[in-house]
Amino acid sequence: MTFIAKPKLHHPSLVKNKAGYTRRDYEGAVSTLCAGCGHDSISAAIIQACYELDIEPHQVAKLSGIGCSSKTPAYFLREAHGFNTVHGRMPAVATGANAANGDLIMIGVSGDGDSLSIGLGQMCHAIRRNVNMAYILENNGVYGLTKGQFSASADPGSTSKKGEANTMEAIDGVLLALTLGATFVARSFSGDKHQLVPIIKAAIMHRGFAFVDVISPCVTFNDHEGSTKSYAHTREHKVEVVQADFVPIREEITTDYAAGTVQNVMLHDGGWVKLRKLAENYDPTDRDRAYAHIREHQKKGEVVTGLLYINEASKDVHDQNDTVDAALYNLPHEQRSEEHTSELQSRVDISYAVFCLKK
Ligand code: SF4
Repeated sequence: MTFIAKPKLHHPSLVKNKAGYTRRDYEGAVSTLCAGCGHDSISAAIIQACYELDIEPHQVAKLSGIGCSSKTPAYFLREAHGFNTVHGRMPAVATGANAANGDLIMIGVSGDGDSLSIGLGQMCHAIRRNVNMAYILENNGVYGLTKGQFSASADPGSTSKKGEANTMEAIDGVLLALTLGATFVARSFSGDKHQLVPIIKAAIMHRGFAFVDVISPCVTFNDHEGSTKSYAHTREHKVEVVQADFVPIREEITTDYAAGTVQNVMLHDGGWVKLRKLAENYDPTDRDRAYAHIREHQKKGEVVTGLLYINEASKDVHDQNDTVDAALYNLPHEQRSEEHTSELQSRVDISYAVFCLKK
């Protein structure tokens, strides 16, 4: 991966937060994603959330797997610890890192391919263990990095860039997380920063696994088949002298709408997504009701957004195992009593990856 660093110098009049940082201090490298990709809006929301929470960037561990979404940790919090794992294995590395150092703020970024196919079992067990992390699933229904194959979250009947219809049922990450007992479940839209920033802040502050599914349009793989200027038509009618592709520059899709209302958002291909924001009197502490609410609106073709479920008495993996209140690197030698030996050993066993978190 090639990184283009942004200049660190900034205007002295930029406002600093309580930790003494400007918003620009939370930025990362220049994004190499397609212009208008929803994932860049999510990175901007993470930057804003960390700035508003007065987080020290070096207290954060940002982790990802493989895919367009998993490139994004390079584009925020350049001073944070980072680990780009192999495909779908981010939850295991996050579990190990958290076991070794529960003081780090863990932000995992993944995609629908990374989380709902190859990494599905990994994600399920991180939810089951209630690993203390914000897990952001950037959901666009395609494998963008490998040219737009359907992912497991693609809706049945939706068409690919080549016009093929998806015949399989979708895996809905939110319903799955609710079923598995996740203690924080939310859904938002990349272009709705008014909703997304507070959700990410709440996810970071939640003690336990906070699952945030963000609908994030892929601007490159949703052009339509009927056009004579479409990728599919052009490929059929041209002689290729070199394998190349053109990524059009598109505007980021944004939206802003009130609680309890429905908003139709037009995607770049002319298709629509119907977003319903939870009403202000919605009770997010009832898991069964949350599930029924999502299903009820799904039948009407609506995607419900907002904080869908939270367990405020959540006990994370450290609470459940009654671990000592110290990161392994910081545990004084005299405290490593027999009593702690087996716990320490198991924490060492699952935290072998932590050495890679050093900058
Ligand atoms: Fe984003 Fe799609 Fe481009 Fe990947 S291919 S960077 S998901 S717009």
